Amino acid sequence: MHCREGAPTPSVDIRKRSFMNMNGTSSAQWHVDLHVHTRRYSPCAELLDPAQLPRVMAERGLQGVVITEHDVLWPAEEIAALNRDLNGSRIFRGVEISSCNGHFVVIGLEALEDLQPGVPAKRILQVARAQGAAVIWAHPQLEYRQMVEPLKSCDIPNGIDAVEVVSTATCGEQSEAARAYARDLACGMVGGSDAHILDHVGKAYTVFDRMPKNENELAAALIDGCYQAAHNGLSCSSLTG
Ligand SMILES: [Zn+2]
Ligand SMILES: [Zn+2]
Repeated sequence: MHCREGAPTPSVDIRKRSFMNMNGTSSAQWHVDLHVHTRRYSPCAELLDPAQLPRVMAERGLQGVVITEHDVLWPAEEIAALNRDLNGSRIFRGVEISSCNGHFVVIGLEALEDLQPGVPAKRILQVARAQGAAVIWAHPQLEYRQMVEPLKSCDIPNGIDAVEVVSTATCGEQSEAARAYARDLACGMVGGSDAHILDHVGKAYTVFDRMPKNENELAAALIDGCYQAAHNGLSCSSLTG
């Protein structure tokens, strides 16, 4: 488990080792998928209906999901409405910002301010710090058209809280490379599925030792707390769709 004072640990598939109580949920560990898109605000996730998330979370033993649409923050009242169907678990709101240096998942923002697509990573960090939000470097190994200034880990501005080391876009050797980035940056390692279809929700997740009650607590846990990247038997060859 990563703690701010200690060395980050590699991600492992720990689901099978966690203690399960009679309800089928972990009594001491909280599983949160930190990176999920839905069709509500991500056109590329047209098959993922957010109304299905409570059922899928229950089926897969997830206590939390963070909805991270591309460059859109859900209105707080819409997230509150989704949470009405949940009992003891939680859907949080975050955002995945398409910076000119890559994609960053940010959790704990109340407003996007000037964080439009193409913004430099440095500006994301400034706004996140001012709002107490946590910043995760998503799928650091990917290169894509919008990323005009790819960052090497040595060029990343100080203040990244964690690197996403396992997701449906980051598996196998890519995970190893992402872990190396995290070690270079001396920051945390998280898992999030980057799901664009329901089948992928919970394929990767992050384990916390206490359940955050809201986005601010989740951001604080990512900045200061203890957590561990994990996955549900994820391998590059197992991914379809
Ligand atoms: Zn992305
Ligand atoms: Zn994504």
